[in-house]
Formats: sequence, C-alpha cells, structure tokens
Amino acid sequence: MKSNELREEFLLFFKSKQHTIVPSAPMVIKNDPTLMFTNAGMNQFKDIFLGNKPAEYKRVADSQKCLRVSGKHNDLEEVGLDTYHHTMFEMLGNWSFGDYFKKEAIEWAWEFLTKRLGIGEERLYATIFEGNADENVPRDDEAYSYWEKCFSNPKGKILEGSKKDNFWEMGETGPCGPCSEIHVDLRSEKERSEIPGEKLVNKGHPQVIEIWNLVFIQYNRKANGSLELLPSHHVDTGMGFERLCMVVQGKKSNYDTDVFQPVISEIAAISGKPYGDNEKTDIAHRVIADHLRTIAFSIADGQLPSNNRAGYVIRRILRRAVRYGYTTMGITEPFIYRLVPVLVQTMGGHYPELLSQKEIITKVIFEEEQSFLKTLGKGLRMIEKKIEELRETGETIFSGKVAFELYDTYGFPVDLTQLILRENGLSLNNEEFTEELNIQKARSRSDAAKISGDWIVLRESEATVFTGYDKTEDDIQIVRYRMVNVKGRNLYHLVFDRTPFYAESGGQTGDKGYIESDNEKIEITDTVKENNLIIHITTNQPSDATAPFRAVIDEKARQLTARNHTATHLMHYALRSILGTHVEQKGSLVSPEKLRFDFSHFNRVTPEEINQVEQMVNNIIMSNITRVVHEDVPVDEAKKMGAMALFGEKYGDRVRVIRFGSSVELCGGTHVDSTGTIGLFKIISEGAVAAGVRRIEAVTSENALRFVNEKLISLNEISGMIKSAGNIVAGVARLVEENKSLQQTIEKMQEAAALAKRKELTEKAEKINGLTIYSGVLEDVTPDMLKNIAHQLRQTHEETAIVIGGSFEGKASLLVAFTDNFVADKSVNATDIIKSVSSLINGGGGGQPFLATAGGKKPEGLYDAVKKAVDEVKSKL
Ligand code: ATP
Ligand code: MG
Repeated sequence: MKSNELREEFLLFFKSKQHTIVPSAPMVIKNDPTLMFTNAGMNQFKDIFLGNKPAEYKRVADSQKCLRVSGKHNDLEEVGLDTYHHTMFEMLGNWSFGDYFKKEAIEWAWEFLTKRLGIGEERLYATIFEGNADENVPRDDEAYSYWEKCFSNPKGKILEGSKKDNFWEMGETGPCGPCSEIHVDLRSEKERSEIPGEKLVNKGHPQVIEIWNLVFIQYNRKANGSLELLPSHHVDTGMGFERLCMVVQGKKSNYDTDVFQPVISEIAAISGKPYGDNEKTDIAHRVIADHLRTIAFSIADGQLPSNNRAGYVIRRILRRAVRYGYTTMGITEPFIYRLVPVLVQTMGGHYPELLSQKEIITKVIFEEEQSFLKTLGKGLRMIEKKIEELRETGETIFSGKVAFELYDTYGFPVDLTQLILRENGLSLNNEEFTEELNIQKARSRSDAAKISGDWIVLRESEATVFTGYDKTEDDIQIVRYRMVNVKGRNLYHLVFDRTPFYAESGGQTGDKGYIESDNEKIEITDTVKENNLIIHITTNQPSDATAPFRAVIDEKARQLTARNHTATHLMHYALRSILGTHVEQKGSLVSPEKLRFDFSHFNRVTPEEINQVEQMVNNIIMSNITRVVHEDVPVDEAKKMGAMALFGEKYGDRVRVIRFGSSVELCGGTHVDSTGTIGLFKIISEGAVAAGVRRIEAVTSENALRFVNEKLISLNEISGMIKSAGNIVAGVARLVEENKSLQQTIEKMQEAAALAKRKELTEKAEKINGLTIYSGVLEDVTPDMLKNIAHQLRQTHEETAIVIGGSFEGKASLLVAFTDNFVADKSVNATDIIKSVSSLINGGGGGQPFLATAGGKKPEGLYDAVKKAVDEVKSKL
C-alpha cells in the first residue's frame, strides 16, 4: 500500500467509528510560551483536555505534523543514526473527549492493525503501566484485561512498563496519563525463534519498535510536580505514520519507504553517492532527507530561519543538514533547495501549503545554505590558523573558548571542530567548551519567563469573554491568577471572567491600562494570550482578588493601534494589487506608534511602487469606507468570502472576517469604524528581512503628520542655511558641486606642496657608497603626504633610503622606506628601524621591510628620531 493511501485508510477507518476527520494543526506554535513546536497530536487539543475550551466533536481523528527537536521530546541526536526517529514526522491519532475510553481505544487499534492492515498478531506486543506508588497511580489492570481479549494467546504478549515508557506527558506540566503502547517485531522468523520479541521491546532494537501509543488522559501535571485528577477522561492516541508505512510496506527502515525514497534518490543523483553503499554516507542521506522536511514544513507554516527561538532551531537544523552534505558527501555548493520539488511531489497532495509556498521555501533554503557555506569556510580558515599557532607552541589541546566562539558566533558546529582536530592529531578542551556553553544556557534560561506557581483558581469559569470590540472599560471579576518570574522579577498573571483588554496576537500588541476596585488601582502593563486564556500582566498582586473591579484600557493607545491595524490591511491589499498576488503576509507588528509588515516579494519595492501603494491606501482612507465585520465564521467559509488566510488557523476555529471595501481578511484585531479616521498613511522604510521577504514600516494619523512635519522642518532649516528659499534641490546641488571643486583645488595644492617638500629633500640628499639617503623633518605634512613623497622617491633604480618625519596639527609621523634592491642587498628592515626609534616621538608603528611608518604625540622628537634612524641605516653600509 502506498503511503498516501495508508494515511487515507487510517482516517476512513476512524470515520467508520463515528470520528470527525480534522486537518493537522500548524507545526509551529504561536500562542504558547511553554511549547515552540507541536510535538504530539494532542497539543492542539490541550485546552479541551484541561477544560478551558469545549470540544466541538467528541470523537476526532487526524494526521498531525509533529516536530521533536527541543524541550521534553527531543530526538535530534538520534535522527539519521537510527532508521525510525525523525525530527518531523506525522502522527496519526484518534481522540475521545470525555467519550469512549480504554476498551474502545484498545479494540479499535487492534482491529485496525490486524484486520484492516493484516499485520500478523505474532509480531505484535502490547505494554501497560505497572503503576507507581509515589505518584499514587495504580497498575493499569483495566487496559490489561482488554489486551488479554485481543491476543489469541496473550502469554508473553502483554508487558508491564515503568513511568519512563508507560506514562505519557506532553511537557513539564499539562495533561498526562498512563499509556499502553503497541510494539511490532519486524525480524525474520528465524531471528524471532532464537530470541523472543518480548525480550527486545523497549530495548532500542531497530527492528522491534513502538508504533502506536494509546494514552489515557486522566491527570494534569501541576507546576509543583504533583498530579491532579481531571474532571473527565480522554483518549489520545498517536501512531508514527512513517513507521506504519515501514511495517505495511515490509521494509526494515522508515527511509526505505515511498515517503523518503524519492528524495533520497535525488540526493544520490546530486551527490553521486548512492544510498545503501556505505554507512557514513547513508547517515548523511537520512539526515538530509529528514531535515529537508522539517525546514520546508516550518517555512510553509510561516516560521523562517532566524536568530532566535523557533527560527533559530530551524536554522540549526538546516545547518546540520548542510554540514552532513559538506563533510560526509563533499558537497560545497547549496543543494538542499534542489530537493524541494521532489518533496512537494511526494507530500504536497495531503499538505497543500507545501505546494502553494514552494517558491519561497526554495528561495529561503537556498539563501540560508549559501550564507552558511560561507560561514563554514570562514570557520575552517579560523581553525586552520589556530591549529598553526598551536603547532608553533608544540601544544596539542585546542582552546574550548575558541571552539565556543566558533560555535556561537559563526554557527560552526563543535563536532566538526572536534573532527578536524582529530584529523590533525589534536584534541579539544571539552571542559572549557562545556563551561562556556553552560554559561550561555544559564543566560538564556534567565531570559525566559518561568512559571513559578500554579493557577490559584478563585472561581470556575468558561473562557474569558472579550468585550473590547465595543468597549474600552468593563466591570470584571478576577477568576484566577498566578505568580511568574521573569529575569528575576516577580509578575502576576490575572485572568478575568470578561475583559475589554485585547491580548497580543495577530501582530497587534496587547492593551495596557488599569483595573480598579474600591480600595486599589492596579496597573496592567501588557495583555497576552496563552492558548485560550487572556492573561493580564501586572507587577502588583491584588490585595483582595475577589473584589469586583472596573477594567479600563488606555483608550488613546488603542485608537492609534486600531488605525495602524486597519492601515495594515489596506496596505496588504494595495501591495497585492500593485506588486501581484504572490505577496503574502509573513509577519506583522501593529503598535500604537507604527506598523511593520513582512511579506513575500523577491525584489526591492521601488520608490515608484512605494508611492503607488501610499496613494492607493490614502485614497481608500479618503473614501472613508465603513468597516464590515462577520463574526464567528467557519474557516472554510471565510476563505470562500475571499479572505486572505493567515497562518495558525486550525480545525474548529471559527474566525472573524474584517472587510473594508475590497480588503477582506481573517482577523481578530481591533479596527477603526471607517477608514477616514486613519487620516494619513505614510511609508517610512522598506528593506529586506530574509531571502524573498521584504519589510515595510509605516505610520498613520498623528504619527504620520509628525513624520511629515519633521521632514518639512528640516527642509525649511536647510533652505534657510543655503539661502535658496525658492528651490532647495537646486541650492543643495550647487553646494555639492562647489564642494567637489573645492576638494579638487585642495588636492592640487597639496600635490604642489608635496612637490616643494620633495624638492627640499632632494636638495639635502646624501650619497654614500652608492646609496642615496633622503632625510629630514617636514612641517605641515600629513601621514598621507609622507607616503606620497616616499612613493615618488622610491620610483628609481638606484639604491635609495628615505627617512622622513612630518608634523601636522601637533601630531608626529615618521616614515622609513627603501628601494627593494637595497633591502635585498643589505638585508635592512624598515620595520625594525621604525620600532627602535618610534619611542622618541612617543608613539609606535610597523609595516614591511621596504616601508614602515609610525605615528606619535611628540613632534619635538622628530629630529632625534630621524637622526637615529639615519644612523642605523648608515651603520648597515
Ligand atoms: P520512541 O520511544 O520510539 O521514541 P515515544 O515513546 O517517544 O517513541 P510517543 O511519544 O508515544 O513515542 O509517540 C507516539 C508515536 O509516535 C510512537 O509510537 C511512534 O510511532 C511515533 N514517534 C515518536 N517519536 C517519533 C520520531 N521521532 N519519529 C518518528 N516517529 C515517532
Ligand atoms: Mg521518544
């Protein structure tokens, strides 16, 4: 069965069990400070498990894009070395939200594998949780009893596992529970008869592996580490799609399936290294084929490689792939971008985002590869230099600090440094390196917010009602709060039953303001979203959190923000009209001060285009178009209305559509009632942020007016200064012209002066034993003029020495130069001489054997310095 059919088969099976099929949520997570990437199918349902959001359907099935490269689930180091862990993989899952539980979950999993797919039960094993007294969780007898009914002969087939393998947790906190895994033994009949599979389950054998995990979610892990029983029970299952393909297609490695083979063939074609020939290059094949998927899907999800957080993780994965290509396969040119078409062919059917973003994915990968290859080159040269230095001193241990600098500043991987050192018979000071790394880690850890307390729940509540579309203040109750620690400072997170405060999202910054009760007023410094919660941040803990409060936002800031947000929509529309529909939003920031908009476009936006965009937006502003809002529209319907889709929508999301005339967008943000309020729109900058991505910054209303006024004021000042009120441009052009001709005049005069000085020197020149010596101290001569004079005097076939000093504006400069024939003949060295006399002018210098210079602070010393230098030259004769 082909992989694409197998995915369908799974979804159809669960459809027949009354499950609703939903699409994958994005792999890059935007609204959760505890998680950067989706690492399991259950992430998108976390709020349902926690009771923060009701489930729309009680049974759901899907195939979820997962990434395990950071945090609690990190498989990066395994990837490529083994044949069944990926960075990005698809997780097939079926879900029960407070509906069926262990019985059905186990029976259906069994039915699907053995009946639908015909996997022999002799190859299958099940595990259950053995229980844990410390956590007060009993052995999972219930799961055991259902498995017992599945196997025709359960003896040796149902194994007990510890907390490590059979208690599933998403992260440090959150929904969790005991789990039951299904393992498959892919070894030959002979091997299986020699060592029974039960001995190899969960032992890291590449042919006896876990394929499906059925998690029974019953608990919530709290910040203090304790477990709390959840109000209802849920089923969360996850089956590795690539592993299932391997089983069904009768392969021994995920990479031998049709999921990876097309890409691997392409890598073989590019590198000239066939797959399956050599373990070292095979690993590189697997790493590259794997990482390509991660990078491509991340970019498609809107996450470009960058220097921080999620973007940095992606950048490092890409660099890992480049490096494997470079060191193992000898590929020194960008090549990963060339694999994108094959990947799109293989996976673009089920994941249309790959197809629609193909061009930008390719472009971004290419640019990243190219710049990293340069870095690699730079790093290699730096290592070579350091190795040479070590050789000179006879040492064999390479500095950990330098290795860290290479890693941190140049992105040069430490294992590559180690490899090169080993090839040179040297070793790395690992302790020093680790020490540096730990210092850096500690630094970045203290930058992140630490959740230091659980929620104190004051009253059970539904999700917060956002009233801020119509109101700027409201009567509210605090329903829960907690303390957090950010960079050593305690802050408080408050959640209300209803709120007029807009939480930062979709690029729009969060509202500020205050809440006030009868006896206190507390400032709210920011409002953010965490999954479904709207969190108000404050530095003060309410003395009585149960009191009724009046919540009031900073109305002025909100108004300015709304103007910028609407202007962002209008500009997006204008950009697509003027530059073309390839323009897609890649990032956005809307604050009271300005708006910033990143979008895909492959060239600079020319000044004429900027002008056109500004004009179009200002025309819409002047037409004073009224806002039309459609609330609570299913995602699909919104797209049909022509709304420009953003990233981050997932199944079940009902969206809000904002329309201003022809501009239609999915948007939860706050907007003006009609465009006239924006007043004025002005673009203040345009530039590149990444390959194929441009950034425009703009201002509106009073900020735009101020911007324009400031420019006008400068212009007025300039016109006052140049006394050319009528035509400033002509006036400035005249100044520039004048300046140029003055510059030329100065240069000519300097040349004439230099000629005169040279003459002075020539008249005093001495000739001893065939050597002409020009020496002297010249006044009002800059170092450049000295060099000029020396250069002219050296244009001769005669053996010549030049020893001159110059003083200029209280500074001294000194120059010693020889013709090459003199240097060769007498083996004199100008640098040595400069060094031995420069202390006389209170300075220092250096250079080459034929020309050296020094600068100093003591012009009075020039005569002595020149005399001493001349004596030294003469002593060589
Ligand atoms: P393993 O012990 O093999 O790493 P796991 O216990 O981490 O697996 P789960 O967290 O239970 O796995 O995930 C559910 C399923 O997802 C697993 O049964 C497996 O089939 C698949 N899976 C997990 N990690 C990966 C990965 N890195 N690459 C591919 N598939 C994976
Ligand atoms: Mg794992």
